[in-house]
Amino acid sequence: MIIVMKADASLKSISEVITRINQLGLKPHISRGKERTIIGVIGRTPVEIEEFEKLTAVEKVVRILSPFKLASREIKPENTIIRINGKVEIGNNRLVLMAGPCAVESRQQILETAQALKEMGVMILRGGAYKPRSSPYSFQGLKEKGLEYLEEAKRLTGMAVITEVMDAGDIETVSQVADILQVGARNMQNFSLLDKIGRTAKPVLLKRGMMATIEEFLMSAEYILSAGNSRVILCERGIRTFEKYTRNTFDISAIPLIKKLSHLPVIADPSHGTGVRDLVGPVARAAVAAGVDGLIIEVHPEPEAALSDGFQSLNLAEFRELMAEIKSLSQVLGRET
Ligand code: PEP
Ligand code: MN
Repeated sequence: MIIVMKADASLKSISEVITRINQLGLKPHISRGKERTIIGVIGRTPVEIEEFEKLTAVEKVVRILSPFKLASREIKPENTIIRINGKVEIGNNRLVLMAGPCAVESRQQILETAQALKEMGVMILRGGAYKPRSSPYSFQGLKEKGLEYLEEAKRLTGMAVITEVMDAGDIETVSQVADILQVGARNMQNFSLLDKIGRTAKPVLLKRGMMATIEEFLMSAEYILSAGNSRVILCERGIRTFEKYTRNTFDISAIPLIKKLSHLPVIADPSHGTGVRDLVGPVARAAVAAGVDGLIIEVHPEPEAALSDGFQSLNLAEFRELMAEIKSLSQVLGRET
């Protein structure tokens, strides 16, 4: 339920409403807009709408129909802007680029990639230290060593770092280096991991599960938000379909749809979304045109030699070219880069 306060509601009347919500054993979620304050009421106890409707400082009371509440546009009509590392903001007019290899493979590989990307103007470096692989015999990531190399890359370039946390037991270690915690597609419905990440204050990139509907995706975001962490970025990374020429089918309509349903920033991953190097550029451009807040792209100095996802990784020259295309497209769309 949402309580919309009148534009001239006093602080006292707002705080009275909040006190009453707390008394009922519910959680108030306050959103102070430019014109008025909106108070979301979250919890399982049934509430009598009339009790709040009759207050003079209240303009109206509306039930939130969607199963996700804190993630919904109904509770927060304006876009959420997430500040990362005190430097980059995601969710405003500026398109944010995240790039780097699928996995951190060696000190030299990540430092060389980070340096090159930094020179191209990329602000956020990606690179997995813990890798979720389909086979237990495939490269699983350098783990702590990988985090060490990421830390060095961060120190040398000043870039922010995004890296995946696969296990709740690693949250603390990963958080020491990561500016954004990535929850991978395979863990989108690992509810205990979501809850624990929700208890941290780190920005989170939540990737859409490969079999997840948009509602399930937003319900997973709700787990993180309801545990207290409001800094969630959603990532469309393609879903499984019957198509075999691509690794996943990138769901372009998810972008405007999620933007309509939720106030959270949405980014696109055309690398996993297609699984095919030649398709990364066209799908990245389509995602920008569809209204994403950012892109996350796999870039490797030598994709042919990559230990994971080489077939969908761009080399540095290809990525430079794509960046130039994205820049001109953004200008046409009135977006900054
Ligand atoms: C990745 O980003 O390298 C990754 C494993 O992504 P996803 O969880 O979307 O498959
Ligand atoms: Mn990958």
